[in-house]
Amino acid sequence: MYFEEITAPRPTRENLEQAYARIHGAIRAGNFTDAMTQWDSQRRETESWFALTYLHFSQDTTDAQYKAQREYADEMGPVVADFDTTVKKALLEQSAATLSVAAPHALALWKTDIQTFDPAIAKDLEAESRVEARYTELLASARIAFDGQTLNLSGLTPYSQSLDRSVRHRAATAHWQFFQTHGPELDAIFDQLVSLRSKMAEALGDASFTPLAYRRLRRVDYGPEQVDRYRREIHTHVTPLVARLMEERRKTNNWDTLYAWDEPLIDPTGNPTPAGDQAFLVAAAQEMFADIDSRLAEFYAQMRSGRFMDLTNRPTKAGGGFCTSFPTAGMPYIFANFNGTHHDIDVFTHEMGHAFQNFQSRRQPLIDFLWPTMEAAEIHSMSLEFLAYPYIGRLMGAGAARYRRMHLTAALEFLPYGACVDHFQHEVFANRQHSAAQRHEIWRTLESHYMPWRNWGDLSYPASGARWQSQRHIYCSPFYYIDYTLAQCAALQFWRLSNQNHRQTMDRYVELCSLGGSAPFTELLKASGLVSPFDAGSLESVVQEAARFLNAD
Ligand SMILES: [Zn+2]
Repeated sequence: MYFEEITAPRPTRENLEQAYARIHGAIRAGNFTDAMTQWDSQRRETESWFALTYLHFSQDTTDAQYKAQREYADEMGPVVADFDTTVKKALLEQSAATLSVAAPHALALWKTDIQTFDPAIAKDLEAESRVEARYTELLASARIAFDGQTLNLSGLTPYSQSLDRSVRHRAATAHWQFFQTHGPELDAIFDQLVSLRSKMAEALGDASFTPLAYRRLRRVDYGPEQVDRYRREIHTHVTPLVARLMEERRKTNNWDTLYAWDEPLIDPTGNPTPAGDQAFLVAAAQEMFADIDSRLAEFYAQMRSGRFMDLTNRPTKAGGGFCTSFPTAGMPYIFANFNGTHHDIDVFTHEMGHAFQNFQSRRQPLIDFLWPTMEAAEIHSMSLEFLAYPYIGRLMGAGAARYRRMHLTAALEFLPYGACVDHFQHEVFANRQHSAAQRHEIWRTLESHYMPWRNWGDLSYPASGARWQSQRHIYCSPFYYIDYTLAQCAALQFWRLSNQNHRQTMDRYVELCSLGGSAPFTELLKASGLVSPFDAGSLESVVQEAARFLNAD
């Protein structure tokens, strides 16, 4: 199959009205199975069209036709969601006997979905999107004078990892100067978002936004109490280890003090880079995936020959990396922007993990089951980054050992930060009346709790508790962050298991991928024999193994 062969009809209100009238007709006539089949194939078609439209636009953001299609897709998103909500409601109103043929997890997901929306909050939802867009636009507007150039915020990133300490310091200063200048506006934007989200929650009968946020993320199997317990695990088992790693880094580099701008330089000789260019990596990856598992290698060969990848950095391409899929075709697609740094390897293995899961689960009976919820989806991607460790030399050459060390260190360092971002949001929405100054004070307290090594030196703005303003998720994807740390806990377990028995671990990994989103997060973990992050001791043994690895490797 070739990517170019995939097509999907453009949905229109009229077509949708007719199709959904037929589905409702089947429900009313008691043809439950027929209704489900029609609805599922309709959703697959629409979903494939959305995926193609957004992908085309990302591949060339200056193409007028792609842009127009994308704007049409933005407009149609809520329309389609509304049609689907009516079906979910109608299905859930059926008798228990009728519903018993549906998978219980599907019912739980639909029940959750219909509780996140009510026509009464439509206006506020629109307003929320608009305010979120203001954050994105404000950050995208950054024009930072640096070393005779004009850079945007991501343009500063390579300098923040420079081997030259003074360059790192200047990059951090320039970065935070932008946030300080726009601080009052960033506080005002966030305050509007907190008010809007709290107001919508109230309209839906919730005491605060937090339960609504959990429902929006389709978290059907755990709540804030379990997440709180996991954050404690991170603080107890990971914070001390990272503090020790930071102290070792300080000594290795002969620094009096390790400042915030020293943290991105993980390898004292400079972060390692790939062994070749994109063409080299794409070819070498075939051998690497064959080393990891033959099923992965076969799938990758299909991705390559069918042209289901766009990895080249082009000026008119959108930034970042992602994996998308076309449910009518059952093939996923990887989008990335290779730039010659170790980041290419991270993104490549990560997105391949998402793609492989989506391919493995393509025969799941319901579109709701093709992708799992966020925290589960990141297990497949983050685990593959670890499962590639023994063979990463195919891509990193002589830098393989340094890459593993850097990657594992970064994975550990991420956990306390992720917990801090999550804890902050819980505090903010539990105290919606707080002033901007009080919010900054909360961040400052949490930062010193989770990351006691953090020393902002002369950077007075982040030192005052403003670090959270540069974390996009807090503004644009509320409460979606702990997901990465939950998945990391599972990925570290896969890594530990594969150190003991790689083949067996790959079987478990492939099996988990095949399950897709047919079960909630904690059940997927159970099915793979992994310890839930919500159980005491989930991190202790993997953290010990990581510490041993970093001392020995
Ligand atoms: Zn991912």
